[in-house]
Amino acid sequence: MNTGIYLRKSRAEELSDSTEKTLKRHKDTLLAFAKQCNLTILETYEEVISGENLYTRTEMLRLLSDVEIGKLDAVLCMDIDRLGRGSMSQQGVILETFKSANVKIVTPRKTYDLNNEIDEEYTEFQTFFARRELKTIKRRMRQGINKSLKDGGYISNAPYGYQSCRIGKLPSLKIVEAEAEFVKLIFDMYANQGCGCHVIAEKLNLLGAIPKRGAKFSRTTVKAIIQNEVYTGKVVWNKRRHRKPDDKNEKYWSTLNPESEWIKADGLHPAIIDIEMFERAKETLSGRYHPPYFSGKLTNQLAGILTCAKCGGKMMRREFKNSGMIYLICPTSGCVKMTSFSAVEKQVLASIKQQLEELKIEVATPVQSYDSLIEKAILSTKKEIDILQTQKEKLYDFLEQGVYTLEVFSERTSTIDEKIKKLYSSLEQLYIEIESKNQVKVDDVCKKVDNVFNAYENATIDQKNRLLKAIVKNVTYYKDKQWPAEKFILHITLKDI
Ligand SMILES: [Zn+2]
Repeated sequence: MNTGIYLRKSRAEELSDSTEKTLKRHKDTLLAFAKQCNLTILETYEEVISGENLYTRTEMLRLLSDVEIGKLDAVLCMDIDRLGRGSMSQQGVILETFKSANVKIVTPRKTYDLNNEIDEEYTEFQTFFARRELKTIKRRMRQGINKSLKDGGYISNAPYGYQSCRIGKLPSLKIVEAEAEFVKLIFDMYANQGCGCHVIAEKLNLLGAIPKRGAKFSRTTVKAIIQNEVYTGKVVWNKRRHRKPDDKNEKYWSTLNPESEWIKADGLHPAIIDIEMFERAKETLSGRYHPPYFSGKLTNQLAGILTCAKCGGKMMRREFKNSGMIYLICPTSGCVKMTSFSAVEKQVLASIKQQLEELKIEVATPVQSYDSLIEKAILSTKKEIDILQTQKEKLYDFLEQGVYTLEVFSERTSTIDEKIKKLYSSLEQLYIEIESKNQVKVDDVCKKVDNVFNAYENATIDQKNRLLKAIVKNVTYYKDKQWPAEKFILHITLKDI
């Protein structure tokens, strides 16, 4: 199991030992445990900065982004509370991220499988944050990361030629001289000597250079280095968008964002290559091979909305030059049969309309006005839970310090857990209450959607795409090889309104 170790002090320890000493002790414990359980440790995240706020916990942010891209199967830490010591909602973000990436949390005491319904300790957290608060918090987290990058920080794992370090409060990079020499060689061979990526990779392997990941340099690793602006001292962010598969067994994948969405800033870290050299390599690259780049102008109003029900690929618009016919096709050749583009578009619109009509009928119930009371109740329940969480955390500290025996500890934890569980179920009731009120607002939404349909006809392709994306979560397309031209099946999921 590919595992990352997350280390940070507990509240009690902050007052006692030095951070280095404590984290070293925990690290030793966890490494021994990992060995015993046969876990492969890929990365260690040592939070040295103390603070409650997630946005200042740069190692946690790094861990979360590694989790998001599917690098880890599990995270090993002293106990689950170490991960999220901030507010409840921030714990929610962390756990939700782990859950949706199907990453397990391993502690010496217990392994948490967040996707296992029966895993009770998790169900206490599970229900709420996600839907209600996750979106805003994630956005804020993203903003926090973006700010750190705009200030020149470097959050991801160090690329070849560098190692992670801290400059002031921000995470950054420092040069690893031996590796930097190879980086210079790569650029020189590519831009000045006209060598290809494959030849360069062979040469590097021959010279005994070892990449950060994997045993040998390959054409791909070399190409990635040539394209990485970090070597000119810049930080670039938001280059790719990572997507989660619907099915947990599928792999993660990512797409390149248009260059206008990239965020670039002058990094705090030193450059290895000057800009002139980098540009020359870029020119060489574009002269050699033209990738199918996104031109920035949308030609397909269904772009990003339709996926193939069979292979999960994004359905594409394809114009056949000879006949002038436009079809919707699956990117996997020989997968599902194609259909005329306009027929599918028409069907998408009709189905949305129908689903919304059904929604309108469901909506009825009169409004009552005790919303504010419910909100107050939610707040106070949350506060109570927070207090209990803090108490629970102290128990862990007592256990670690040897004040409590494991027996006393277990007994006290389960009492607190019981209380927390009760509070969570009343919290859930309160949310259900509010939810049922919000239903009424759907009627307004329907009106808005009607307007969308009126606007659709005369909208540009780009606007059409945005209009659809505003209400549609996903549409899957299926067509059997034997089916006639006009037959196909769409399955439409609308966004939560
Ligand atoms: Zn397909």
